[in-house]
Amino acid sequence: MISGDSQNRNNSLQQQQQQQSQPRAGGSFRTTSSLSVSGSDILASFSAQSKTTLEGTDVAGAMEALANADAVCFDVDSTVITEEGIDVLAASLGKGEEVAAWTLKAMEGNTKFEDALAARLDIMKPSQHAIDKCLKEHPLQFSPGIEKLVELLNLAQVDVYLISGGFRSMIEPVARELCVGKSNIIANTILFDDDGEYAGFDREELTSADMGKPKAVQKIKDDHGYKTVVMVGDGATDAQAKPPADAFIGFGGVSVRDSVREKACWYVKDFEAMNEVVSKFGKST
Ligand SMILES: [Mg+2]
Repeated sequence: MISGDSQNRNNSLQQQQQQQSQPRAGGSFRTTSSLSVSGSDILASFSAQSKTTLEGTDVAGAMEALANADAVCFDVDSTVITEEGIDVLAASLGKGEEVAAWTLKAMEGNTKFEDALAARLDIMKPSQHAIDKCLKEHPLQFSPGIEKLVELLNLAQVDVYLISGGFRSMIEPVARELCVGKSNIIANTILFDDDGEYAGFDREELTSADMGKPKAVQKIKDDHGYKTVVMVGDGATDAQAKPPADAFIGFGGVSVRDSVREKACWYVKDFEAMNEVVSKFGKST
């Protein structure tokens, strides 16, 4: 399988050969694209019937941001995949109920993110071997349409990131399947001792504390000089990422949260309409 890094490099090389390119802040290159497409033009391409199903505070703005995005950041749990990775791991360790109680507490906002993360990891104390076994016995399932969407974004030279409060070691196989490079994962890192036993987590990771996702989006904007970044996700922490994200697309294909639905520029229940926007109006199309 081709890795995200090498695919991005290949795509980049091909396009540099085909078109004039210009340097971006951060030292990478973005090819000169045709004029930006407007949200109202994109919206006009949808049939009257499908327009009635579109929902959000600024659907045209979100579509325009998606079509012109330099980067699209996806939440992982209940967005890219149909489950919560930490629940899958907890169940495989026989700690499902105890961990779920803490997850609920964290979601209700009564507790600091880092405290809830520490408490749940402390209940599970997952070893490297236990995580590998869990993923082997229960491979994480993709949400329908996500593989196509990421493939289209990769083809359109749009950088794809996975930003998650979940665990890097569980997300890496997901990223590999999607041809997203390891360096484009921002998530929590479980630490292991020399014997592969649980030894805590890396508190330096941006996603290990409250407001991690806005910080992560700001960092990738600063590091790469991206002008337009879109955040996609199902949770309140994803909605928090705008700003600095230029648009927030709420995903309700796995679980619908009313507070997220109300904040979303565009709220989708599947990835079909996003696929349509990227395939018809994306940068390199
Ligand atoms: Mg989520």
